[in-house]
Amino acid sequence: MPELPEVTALAAYLRERAVGRHVERVEVSAISVLKTYDPPVTALARAEVTDATRHGKFLDVIFDSGLHLVVHLARAGWLQYREGFAGSTPLKPGKGPIALRVRLDDGSGFDLTEAGTQKKLAAYLVADPALVPGVAKLGPDALGAPLEVFAERLRSRRGQVKGVLTDQAVLAGIGNAYSDEILHRAKLSPFAITDRISAEAMAQLYEATRTVLTDAVERSVGQQAATLKSEKRSGLAVHARTGLPCPVCGDTIREVSFADSSLQYCPTCQTGGKPLADRRLSRLVR
Ligand SMILES: [Zn+2]
Repeated sequence: MPELPEVTALAAYLRERAVGRHVERVEVSAISVLKTYDPPVTALARAEVTDATRHGKFLDVIFDSGLHLVVHLARAGWLQYREGFAGSTPLKPGKGPIALRVRLDDGSGFDLTEAGTQKKLAAYLVADPALVPGVAKLGPDALGAPLEVFAERLRSRRGQVKGVLTDQAVLAGIGNAYSDEILHRAKLSPFAITDRISAEAMAQLYEATRTVLTDAVERSVGQQAATLKSEKRSGLAVHARTGLPCPVCGDTIREVSFADSSLQYCPTCQTGGKPLADRRLSRLVR
């Protein structure tokens, strides 16, 4: 899933490629993708792209007419910039991975795509991003919040730090992959309870958050949209590296189920050498 660094990079990429271009046509192939109907997408015809930015993990393409195309890429969504659509026929409804296509007046444009069968990609055409429910409930940005705000937000929601850190209403922008990386860097157990984290450990978690996200943004911005995913993978220390050695201490990275997915961590760095109990597994065994 694209998180704060990848969405930052996609916005930067769009600013470079699309700003100053006018929309020729918007095609929607999966009607479930578009969550708004007023104004209709035809309202974007001839509108000029003036900027692109992000709110948490939401991408926001801004037009001179005051409209915003706000996109949540969800787990399997992506943006593909196309130099040209030569020979391509209009999108067929409900066919293939392309959910929405924006054609620009220089012949280029971009597709919003979604792999797999779980269709979660969401696009909203609104006059104000705050009209998007997911944007309205976002907490402070994970990279913008000062230490006091960061600590106060995390402590305000009692729970396992892995879950609280990825709760977009607490802090915006962190998902499954970067929360694993941040907790590993902070040498903190993913199951530590937020309101019991010491001031010292909280300051370490804050620094880890800034370092991990800033490094990932620096690696990502300037990349072509197509190479962003491999760039993300190459920069990870623990996430999606089950069974591989920890780059810090050499211990074997372990995995445990969490929420509807799984998390990865290093026992030596994070949990005093003790593997975490897989609650889901032990429940099944019992
Ligand atoms: Zn380690």
